[in-house]
Amino acid sequence: RPVSESTVESAALRAEDVTIRYGDVTAVDRLSLTVGRGEFTALLGPSGCGKTTFLRAIAGLNQLSAGSIAIAGRPMADGRLHVPPERRPLNMVFQSYAIWPHLSVRANVGYGVRGQGIRGRELKDRVDETLAAVGLLHYADRYGTELSGGQQQRVAVARALATRPFLMLYDEPLSNLDAGLREQVREQIVDLHHRFDTTTIYVTHDQAEALSMADRVVLMNAGRIEQESDPRSLYHRPESEFAARFVGQINALPATVAEVGEDFTDVALLDQPGRTLRLRGSRRPRTPGAAGQAVVRPEYFEVTTGGDASDDTRNVFVGEVTRAAFIGSRIQCVVATGAVDLAVEVSGVREIRQGDRVSVRVDPARIIWIDEQPSEER
Ligand code: ATP
Repeated sequence: RPVSESTVESAALRAEDVTIRYGDVTAVDRLSLTVGRGEFTALLGPSGCGKTTFLRAIAGLNQLSAGSIAIAGRPMADGRLHVPPERRPLNMVFQSYAIWPHLSVRANVGYGVRGQGIRGRELKDRVDETLAAVGLLHYADRYGTELSGGQQQRVAVARALATRPFLMLYDEPLSNLDAGLREQVREQIVDLHHRFDTTTIYVTHDQAEALSMADRVVLMNAGRIEQESDPRSLYHRPESEFAARFVGQINALPATVAEVGEDFTDVALLDQPGRTLRLRGSRRPRTPGAAGQAVVRPEYFEVTTGGDASDDTRNVFVGEVTRAAFIGSRIQCVVATGAVDLAVEVSGVREIRQGDRVSVRVDPARIIWIDEQPSEER
């Protein structure tokens, strides 16, 4: 979604040209980001790309080296201005669910609310409502030590949300939980985001988490934004090889543009002399001779068994299944086609096994084209 002018004015967060250095290390490099009210934004990227540093700067826990941050239209950091964390309209949940073990769940969740000067009936109602929302109302009188890891993390989320912050920040909140629990708390965090009408910024290195939870994913690389998209566009229309690889598996076939037609482009595959692939759609390349990669995700292939050489036309590869890893819902295959081994994925109900001869076809409109990136600074 492009950010309109009115969104910028009423933006929940506006970061402009934010740079954060630690000595010689530039952790965040001239990063600009606008987050609309009510949006769930994931900051996704590999370890060390600067996501935590940036999130902590939004919270006021890190100083900016340059740039500015405004929340709800109010300047929070700009030049010498630095509003301290406790005076920013936000709350945060960290990876280590630091709830106070010597306090009851109720006291933990009520802590920040008391800090807002709320007492008595209103305090109790606020705590009860928030605990009910995370499904822990009947644990209100337990102590932190009497809870499982997942429950403790839900208390940490409730504690942060009980103050009804304008902005909720999460830093890898689920990484200490096991897979099943992670999915459960993931859904709950999204529910809470809607229920309390919050704006959420969520740091993760887990692509499934980012894609499944967020309205918009901000993919970071080396302190900068690599791509900012809704989850589906990021996955199906990545703009760089980095983005394509980070959010899923790919087959990247180096190629050059051979022919540009009315509604198609044929590209010549470098690893298979004489062979072309046809691309359609708005993102196809249009410069004859241009170099790049034709990128195909494993599940884009349509697989037919018993393929023979006569099937071997444009956009169809014939080969042998040299690996078929059945993982239940899907089968992850490698298809050896002679010149290249293709990663191909089919539904788990298919009867495809190692040794089968198959032909795999890819729809011309599905193929992602990524221009060769100039090797110098972007
Ligand atoms: P991770 O998921 O591993 O936490 P990240 O994307 O959150 O990674 P940051 O923790 O923000 O990355 O770190 C970005 C860069 O800044 C890294 O090169 C890191 O080593 C460096 N860095 C982070 N904190 C400090 C610090 N307090 N002092 C010096 N360098 C730091």
